[in-house]
Amino acid sequence: MEKFNFSAGPAVLPQEVLSQITEEMADWQGSGLSILSMGHRTDEFTVILQAAEQDCRALLGIPDNYRVLFMQGGAVAQNAIIPLNLVKKSKETAVIDFIHTGYWSGRAMEDVAKYACVHVAASAKESQFTTIPHKSSWQLSPSAEYVHVCTNETVHGVEFNFTPDVGDVPLVADMSSHIFSRPIDVTKYGVIFAGAQKNMGIAGLTLVIVRDDLICGAQANCPAAFDWVNVAKNHSRFNTPPVFAIYVAGLMFKWLLQQGGLENIAKQNSLKSHLLYDCIDASSLYANAVSRDCRSRMNVPFSLRDPVLDTAFLAAAKQQGLLQLQGHRVLGGMRASLYNAMPAKGVESLVDFMREFERLS
Ligand SMILES: *Cc1c(COP(=O)(O)O)cnc(C)c1O
Repeated sequence: MEKFNFSAGPAVLPQEVLSQITEEMADWQGSGLSILSMGHRTDEFTVILQAAEQDCRALLGIPDNYRVLFMQGGAVAQNAIIPLNLVKKSKETAVIDFIHTGYWSGRAMEDVAKYACVHVAASAKESQFTTIPHKSSWQLSPSAEYVHVCTNETVHGVEFNFTPDVGDVPLVADMSSHIFSRPIDVTKYGVIFAGAQKNMGIAGLTLVIVRDDLICGAQANCPAAFDWVNVAKNHSRFNTPPVFAIYVAGLMFKWLLQQGGLENIAKQNSLKSHLLYDCIDASSLYANAVSRDCRSRMNVPFSLRDPVLDTAFLAAAKQQGLLQLQGHRVLGGMRASLYNAMPAKGVESLVDFMREFERLS
C-alpha cells in the first residue's frame, strides 16, 4: 500500500529526492566522500553550495542586490537574529510593527519584545485567527524599524493572498511553510526567512534572503555567527554550515526546476488544496473555520463534528496509509499539510478516505 505523509514539519520529501540521497550517500558523485563527512571548504562542497544558491535564485527570481544566506537555528532563532541585525536604536525607542495572524507571528512577538517595543499594527485574534486583517486596517508606525508578517500560518492555516506595500519600512516575512509554493516578488521584501523542513528540505537549515543595504552590522551583543555581515562576507561559511541540509535543499531546488518552476508548482498546489477544501465544504462531518479568501494552500486544519471521533479517524486513516494527520497541540483536531512534495494522488487518497469515513460514521 502506498503511504502518504501529511506532517506539518519536518515534512514529506519527493521520492526522487529521497532516492538520490540514498544513492549518493556513501560516495558523492564518485568523489570518494560521503556528504556526511565532507569538509565544508572542499571543492566538492563548494560546488554543492554554489549550485544550491544559483538554483534558489533562479526559482525565486532573486535580484542581485539581495544576498542568500544559509544559516542554522531555525525560523525561531531568526525571530531574534533579525532585530539583533536590524535594530540600531535602544530597546526602549525602537518600534517593530507586527501583523498578528496566528501562532507563529505570536511567538515571534515574544522573541522580538526582548530587543524592541512590539506594536501590534493589526490582529486577527478576535476572529480566532481565521482571517488576515485587510491592509487598509493596518495601523503602521511611521518610524518602525520593520514590519513583521508571517505569510503562511502553519498552525491556523491562513495564508496571505496579497503582498502588502508598507512603504519605505522594510517588510520582513516568515515564509517557512509556503516558500517555493508560488512565485513571489522578492523586491517587495527587506528580509524573507524560512526553516527548510517544511517546503524545501530537512531540519537544520534556515534560508535567509536579505536586501544588501540591511546587512550593515549587528548589535554588539549578537553572536558573531548570527551577524549577517559575517555570514554574507563568508558566503555562509563563517563557521560550519549545515552541510547535509544544504545538499538536500539543493536537490529540492533541482526537483522544483524539473517540475517546471514555481508557476507550475503553484498550479498543482492550488488544485491539490481545492480538492481537500471542496471535500470539507461539501461534508457535514468536517469543518474548516478559515475565511475562504485566506485559506492556506499548504496547511489545512479541520475538525470533526464531534471530537470524540478524532481517535477513530486517525486510526482508520493510518490503516489506509494516511499518516501524521493529527492537528497542532494548540488547535487540536486534524491538519493535512499539502506541501510541494505531496503528490496529487496523496490528496485524492485522503479525500476518498474522508468521504468513506463520513459515510460509515
Ligand atoms: C515551523 C515554523 C516555524 C518554526 O521553525 P523552527 O525551524 O522550528 O524554528 C516558524 N514559523 C513558521 C511559519 C513555521 O511554519
